[in-house]
Amino acid sequence: MKPARFDYVRAESIAHAVEVLADAGGDGKVLAGGQSLMPMMNFRLVKPSVLVDINHIAELDRIEHRGDRLHVGALVRHRMTAEDALVVRHIPVLHHAMKHVAHLTVRNRGTFCGSVCHADPAAEMPMMTVLLDGTIHTASPRGSRALPARDFFVGSLVTALEPDEMATSIEIAVPAEGSGWGFEEFARRHGDYALAAIAVLMERRDGQARNVRVAMMGVGDTPLRLLDVEAALEGREVTRAALDEAIEALKMSIDPNSDLNASSDYRRHLAAVLARRALGDAWSRTRQTSVEIAA
Ligand SMILES: Cc1cc2nc3c(=O)[nH]c(=O)nc-3n(C[C@H](O)[C@H](O)[C@H](O)COP(=O)(O)OP(=O)(O)OC[C@H]3O[C@@H](n4cnc5c(N)ncnc54)[C@H](O)[C@@H]3O)c2cc1C
Repeated sequence: MKPARFDYVRAESIAHAVEVLADAGGDGKVLAGGQSLMPMMNFRLVKPSVLVDINHIAELDRIEHRGDRLHVGALVRHRMTAEDALVVRHIPVLHHAMKHVAHLTVRNRGTFCGSVCHADPAAEMPMMTVLLDGTIHTASPRGSRALPARDFFVGSLVTALEPDEMATSIEIAVPAEGSGWGFEEFARRHGDYALAAIAVLMERRDGQARNVRVAMMGVGDTPLRLLDVEAALEGREVTRAALDEAIEALKMSIDPNSDLNASSDYRRHLAAVLARRALGDAWSRTRQTSVEIAA
């Protein structure tokens, strides 16, 4: 299919992009990698009157390391994020998650920010933004905002962005040195959107799990932080019994939808299986790192 008629504007700056969005009166759309927007326009699921192409705003095309936070500009592609030296070395959970995003051609064009703004409940980057204590920086005619990820995802394909507002960058935390990580995903075929996925971070001090962070997708309309699962492990050694308690907490705290791909019961079962593996991996990677440091 072909999209409905639209105007195209090549934005020369963030201010220009915001001005065009405001002039469109709520009917404009930012064009980043186009990997989700163009298919939706071709199917006429969205019919913006104007596309604001941000691909030529050079200042958006960079990753910056500031203190213990990483700022990912709105034009940073999935591939660039995955291959960034700091991500590879210090945020291996994000490097690993990127391998599960679609295929190379999509990863060459699609952007981290675009994925977060698109807010597909089965996409990896919204979940990673929640896991990594993300903040979405935005610009609009009213100025700039910094929206915590926990307030950003409102529903399936719905965010807290106003129609005349664009994301300029996403800020994520660099995990503490020695953190263990786990990532598990199940999709029918490699590169497909996942039925469910989980990402975990934890530190280990005095034989106990600390700063446990657990995020999941595919089990709700938005990516979820699983606070009850985190609480079940915080301050404890991650033994089989502790994992059993964490998995019980997980089952109680999610209420997945049934859809064409899977029933609610199946998704809950899948979530538990993935969680047990990811939590165990995170704990054992923490231990391995401690051993390396001790040696
Ligand atoms: C075949 C295929 C398979 C895929 N598989 C996966 C997968 O397994 N996992 C996954 O996570 N994704 C998958 N995707 C989606 C892909 O990751 C997209 O790149 C991503 O969802 C959107 O990023 P984009 O830069 O292409 O955004 P676009 O398509 O340009 O935009 C998407 C939406 O976000 C808005 N937007 C974009 N940038 C901004 C901004 N800076 N400010 C405000 N609004 C903005 C747009 O207006 C639009 O509404 C797949 C895509 C395809 C085509």
